[in-house]
Amino acid sequence: MQAKPGYTGKIARVDLSTGAVSQVPTGDYADAFVGGQGVAARIYWDEVPAGARAFDPENRLIFATGPCAGVQGLSGARWVVCGKSPATTPEFFTHSNLGGSWGAELKAAGFDCLVVQGNADRPVYLLVRDGEIKIADASGLWGQGALQVREIIKAEQGSSFKVAATGQGGENMTCLATLLADNDSSGTGSLGAVMGSKNLKAVAVRGSGAAGIARPGQLQGLLERVAALKKDYPMTDSGVAEESMKDHCAGCTDECNRGLYEAGDGSRGKFMCQSGSFYKEWALSYYKEPNDVPFYATRLCNDYSLNTKSVFPIIAWLHRCHEAGLLSEKSTGLPLGKIGSLEFIQALTENIALRRGFGDVLAQGLHRAACTLGNRGVDLVYDDITKAGERMTYVPKAYLTTGLLYALDPRQPIQQLHEISRLGMVWVLWAKNKPGANLSSAVLRAIGKRAWGSELAADFSTYDGKALAAKMVQERQLAKECLILCDNAWPILYAEHTPDHLGDPSMESKIASAITGRDMAEDDFYRLGERLFNLQRAILLREGHRGKQDDTLPEACYELPLDTERLNPDCLLPGKDGEIISRKGAFFDRQEFQRMLREYYELRGWDVETGLHRKARLDSLGLGDVARDLAAEGLLGG
Ligand code: SF4
Repeated sequence: MQAKPGYTGKIARVDLSTGAVSQVPTGDYADAFVGGQGVAARIYWDEVPAGARAFDPENRLIFATGPCAGVQGLSGARWVVCGKSPATTPEFFTHSNLGGSWGAELKAAGFDCLVVQGNADRPVYLLVRDGEIKIADASGLWGQGALQVREIIKAEQGSSFKVAATGQGGENMTCLATLLADNDSSGTGSLGAVMGSKNLKAVAVRGSGAAGIARPGQLQGLLERVAALKKDYPMTDSGVAEESMKDHCAGCTDECNRGLYEAGDGSRGKFMCQSGSFYKEWALSYYKEPNDVPFYATRLCNDYSLNTKSVFPIIAWLHRCHEAGLLSEKSTGLPLGKIGSLEFIQALTENIALRRGFGDVLAQGLHRAACTLGNRGVDLVYDDITKAGERMTYVPKAYLTTGLLYALDPRQPIQQLHEISRLGMVWVLWAKNKPGANLSSAVLRAIGKRAWGSELAADFSTYDGKALAAKMVQERQLAKECLILCDNAWPILYAEHTPDHLGDPSMESKIASAITGRDMAEDDFYRLGERLFNLQRAILLREGHRGKQDDTLPEACYELPLDTERLNPDCLLPGKDGEIISRKGAFFDRQEFQRMLREYYELRGWDVETGLHRKARLDSLGLGDVARDLAAEGLLGG
């Protein structure tokens, strides 16, 4: 198979039911979807029957890289894992984006993607090395945590192997299960449970190859422009300890907050953003002073392979149920009077991962666990929770555009939310007169015009302009997931040091062109995102999503006033003509949501009454076969 620049040219396939290993050309998928999540979604559409359950052998685990993986200085070492998730009802296709070095290593080992199908009849792990794949016995690894498995495989196979593994939470197919790779890169979406169902404990990769770059000189010039645009860009989304050591993903030179924390006992691990802060407030309230317990809590979740985004609302719910007398220490076997302590988080994570006692109920995920206690249990669930049981951040009541982003995704669409909220938080520095801050309301309006379709998109006192903004954000983000570029670093919409402080959202398409040699204009880039967005919507519809009926927000968005936002506690945002407003106390307007949704469907070329695709738009995106399949199922709009 002749590799084109940016690719190894090969997608590996392993059938764990039969032990067969095979390969197909990447070009079969990459011509239309470029790489990453796009290629994975297309493979999934072609191969996973709508009726297959997450733990059935027909489900696929698709590990995918993109053309940017392995390219130095690009914040492009991210990789994705896709497959059907058991976390939601009904079960849906999902995707998980991880950093670190595993993805670049898979590519160096000679594969753009790895598709795993079938279920092994005994515990196994995969060894991928320079074009060869072996299915190895993992019986000695079963029952071990993900951190331990990583060390055992490295000790046996060589420390240069990069390992993605799942802990006991994955083995026992809990709906919170993650997978954990080198550099403590954690993947959500419950795909660790799918690993468990396949008896797949880990995938270890090692390679010495490198994909070609079509136009290295042009790429170098683009990297220099990126460096100039990003000079001194302030980072605000921090949950990392201030003195932490940098722990960059492979080849990345960006000044993001990905850091290593060292605890008093000498143990080290990644500790940033949400996963670094999920237990912080509980621990502070219990111990009354900062300590290492939040770090140990994150380590426990990583090792057992439990999603901190799902564990957080479970803790909040347990707390409320305990206070209301609905659950007791005796009935749960958990020290509910000591929430915030190390003892509590140890007991909770262990019981969930091992499905012990009440942990077996919690292992089904928050919504299903709450239902076991009837209406009172359901009423005590935290107010803003996604359909997949994750707590909402960057909430619609503040950022408005994020209402559509949340409504159109069963999970928290974190990369899309970041595009709006990050700029909002940098703007807050200007609003609070921080010396040197220059992302003013006028600059944000100009960014809105350039990147979100209108200046109104940057006015958070009105719902106008938000439908187009949501569509553009979704398309830019999904196209990025094909390349794959990190959302900590992309898009570059604001630049601290240019005269107008505007960044350049055309950089991604130029970089893709330089690496692959396939010319891609900025519009082509958005079209790629639109193609993938529509394909993913088709997958969801085929799996039981009911279109408009399911494009909804939690009732709390409409009925409870905005209290605070984690990283913007005063809820400050630019309003009409750029005036500084606070959305504290605001609700999301139900009628306005319906109006936005209708406008959004029109922009997408979907049926406005049902939220279903129309044939013409799918045909124009090169998805004619998808339209035919949807029509056959009665899932096409009029
Ligand atoms: S910006 Fe941070 S998270 Fe993103 S690739 Fe670079 S080091 Fe990794």
